[in-house]
Amino acid sequence: MFDTIIRDVQIIKNDSWLHVDLGVSDGSFAEIATSISGSSRKEVDGKGAFCLAGGVDLHVHFNDPGRTHWEGFKTGSAAAAAAGISFLAEMPLNSIPSTTSVDALQTKLAAIDNKSYVDFGLWGGVVPGNNADLEPLAKAGVIGFKAFMAPSGNDDFDKSSRSTLREAMLRIAPTGLRLALHAEDPIVLERASNRLKRKVSAFDWEASRPVEAEISATKVAIELSLETGCPITIVHVSSVEVLTTIQNAKRQGVDIICETCPHYLLLSRADADCIGADAKCAPPLRSKARRRALEQAVIDNLIDTIGSDHSPSPPSMKLDQSFFDAWGGIAGIQHGYPLLLSRYGMNALSRIQMIQKLCCQSPAEVMSLKSKGSLDLTKDADFTLIQPLESTSEIEADALLTRHQRSAYLGSKINIEVVSTWLRGRAVTMNGQLLEEAPFGKFMPRSDK
Ligand SMILES: [Zn+2]
Repeated sequence: MFDTIIRDVQIIKNDSWLHVDLGVSDGSFAEIATSISGSSRKEVDGKGAFCLAGGVDLHVHFNDPGRTHWEGFKTGSAAAAAAGISFLAEMPLNSIPSTTSVDALQTKLAAIDNKSYVDFGLWGGVVPGNNADLEPLAKAGVIGFKAFMAPSGNDDFDKSSRSTLREAMLRIAPTGLRLALHAEDPIVLERASNRLKRKVSAFDWEASRPVEAEISATKVAIELSLETGCPITIVHVSSVEVLTTIQNAKRQGVDIICETCPHYLLLSRADADCIGADAKCAPPLRSKARRRALEQAVIDNLIDTIGSDHSPSPPSMKLDQSFFDAWGGIAGIQHGYPLLLSRYGMNALSRIQMIQKLCCQSPAEVMSLKSKGSLDLTKDADFTLIQPLESTSEIEADALLTRHQRSAYLGSKINIEVVSTWLRGRAVTMNGQLLEEAPFGKFMPRSDK
């Protein structure tokens, strides 16, 4: 007896879409077959929808506790579920306190309590002076560590110098965890900024944070990884030139992976100029040519994972400010991943497989999340059902489940619908709305992987 059978969904099998039934027991896939004959407590008609594994987003900022007026775990995770994401990892900064000690981790866990609609991990922070906290944080189950090589934009999360990073990496290496780096070189940023005559538009903002800053910092990170043996992730790579440096390091045997975000693949600095501060982020959105080149690099398999870097703020920190003074962070968790699927359409099988790999399978693998990331027997029954829309629709503010109804993707055209998202065999969202008021997402400590 299954708990639930979902009849007639399409999964990718042997490079084509195949109609199957999904049998779920105890939150896991118990049978996946063209026709399941067993009985079940509950049966659901999948109506031939496309079924993908639940998304695994390793890069979100929910600012809980302390800045829940920016987002919060309940609203952020609800939006994630509506996007087809069933696991996320939350960054250590922008909450108060920052997650730079075990005490702070416990404070965050207590604040999240039972407020997450999806399963989650938490990153620990590396800041100057918290060396002694790193090993205890690893033991307490953080998914990995995060450091900033340039100012984070937040006074309570200081950037790390080369020597701070070296000391931290020496301590992280034996834990087997990975250090994720915001890699922009502050000296290159300062020089570029000083050269600027105007600091007004999205184009000026992009000029103030050139790709060279990313390359320079990435090279330092690679040197330190070689020296210490600490595995690293370069997060939110904005441009293809950085990838050359990363590929060279991979060939040298450095344990380095890289992430990009939907906004670098979907939007350019010209779009940012139209959208305004809702499309401000660091590194900034680049030229159309660079956006296209990055998309090609994704197709060429040069990127390891895609994460949303969902980093919202209250509207006042965007609206009442000039582009330069506005908060730098893109809110987009609810539509970034669906827009990537929409970009190619569900029938473009090889592209959908590529997005699945980058948004589900690889993020689960690099974090050793053994129960997540693919539609396989005994894994958590985390999946999303997707239907193509008959006519293209436009993303509207009132569809957003986030704390504030703002997103860089408002007005974007989308041709698919995330019909439902399932976590461990239970539907969390249906047609973009929450089904259950009581969230049941759980913390997955890294030691519990
Ligand atoms: Zn981030």
